[in-house]
Amino acid sequence: MQKNELARTSKRSGQKVELTREFFEKLPKYDLHVHLDGSLRLETVWDIAKRDKIDLGVNSIEELREAISPGKIHKSLNDYLKGFELTLKVLQTEENLYRAAYELAEDCAKENILYFEVRYSPILHVQKGVSLPAILEAVIEGLKAGQRDFGVKSGVIVCGIRNISPDISLRMAELAVAFKNRGVVGFDLAGAEYNYPARDHLEAFSLILSNNVNVTIHAGEAYGPDSIHQALHYCGAHRIGHGVRLREDGDLLNYVNDHRIPLEMCLQSNIQTGAVKNIAEHPFKFYLDLGLRVTLNTDNRLITNTSMTDEMWLAYKTFSLSPQDILDLTMNSAKASFIPFEEKKYQVRDLKRKVIGLFKSDTGVDLKLF
Ligand SMILES: [Zn+2]
Repeated sequence: MQKNELARTSKRSGQKVELTREFFEKLPKYDLHVHLDGSLRLETVWDIAKRDKIDLGVNSIEELREAISPGKIHKSLNDYLKGFELTLKVLQTEENLYRAAYELAEDCAKENILYFEVRYSPILHVQKGVSLPAILEAVIEGLKAGQRDFGVKSGVIVCGIRNISPDISLRMAELAVAFKNRGVVGFDLAGAEYNYPARDHLEAFSLILSNNVNVTIHAGEAYGPDSIHQALHYCGAHRIGHGVRLREDGDLLNYVNDHRIPLEMCLQSNIQTGAVKNIAEHPFKFYLDLGLRVTLNTDNRLITNTSMTDEMWLAYKTFSLSPQDILDLTMNSAKASFIPFEEKKYQVRDLKRKVIGLFKSDTGVDLKLF
C-alpha cells in the first residue's frame, strides 16, 4: 500500500527551536531496546580477552575495532549479527557478565538515561559451563550495583533466538518465568528473522503468556508485516522491536496505533542491517506523526557505534523534530516500559516534569503552552 492510503492521518504541530547535541545529552531518556552482547565497551572486550587469554584473532585493540567495525553498514541483518561472535567470546564467565552489565549502567547514567531494559539470551553464554540461572544472576547483580553506584534503574529481557531452536526458546522462557519479579521484566525473540517465523516458537510464548510475563518481539526488521502480525496475534507481543516494515500494511498499522502497541525503533541499527536504505527513508517520523507509540533506542551501543544521545540527535537533525515531538518521544518510552504500572505512573509524571523543565530552562520554550 501507499504510505497514507489506509493509515489514518493526524495533524501535529509544534514550534521549532534550535537545539544542540548537549541538550540531548542532558535530556532525561529511556532505552528499552539494548543488547548486552552488542553494547560492551571496546576497551573492555580487549581487556577481558588479554586477561583471560581469549583468542579473538586480533593482535591489538585497533585490529579488534576493525574486526568489529562499529557502525558499519552491512548487507543484511545476518551480516550485522556476525559482529556478536567476537563479543560473545568474552561473555562466558559470571565475572565478565557482571562487568558488562555494570559498565552498561555506568554508560547509560553518563548520558542521563534514567531507565533501560537490557536484553540477551543466556544460552549464548554457556560455552564455559556456567549454569543458566548463574548467567542471569550475574547480569542482574551487575545491574543492581550499577543502580546503587550510578542511580540508573534497569530490567532484563530474556531472549529466545529464532535461528537456534524452539526447544531452546522454551528453556529461555522457563528462565524468564523463574526470574520474573527478580530482575527479569520481559521475554523477546531475537536473531535471524527471515526464514525463522515466530510461530515456530509458540510453546515458549504459551508458557510466557500463561505466566503473565511481558513480551516484546523483534519483527518487521528483516521480514515484512506478516512477521509483526505473527508476533502480535500468535505470540501475544506487547511491544514490537523495530517494526520498520509495518508501513507496508496500513490495516495492521492502524491496529498497532489503536492498541497503543509501542515500536522500539533504532535508527542507526535499522540502516546498518539494511532494514531501511538510508535515514531519509526511515518511517520513524511518519509513524510519530500518525501518533504511533514510537520509541527511540540504541539496539547495540558498540556494534552500531551509538548512544541514546546520538539516536535522538540524529532524529532531531533529520526530521526537524519540534519540542512537542521530543516530549512525545520521551513520554512514549516511559509509557512503553515494562515497569509495573504502580511505579510507572510516578515515573511518567516525573519524566514529563523533567523534560518540560529542561526545555524551559535551556530554550525558554514552555511546552505546557502547546
Ligand atoms: Zn535488537
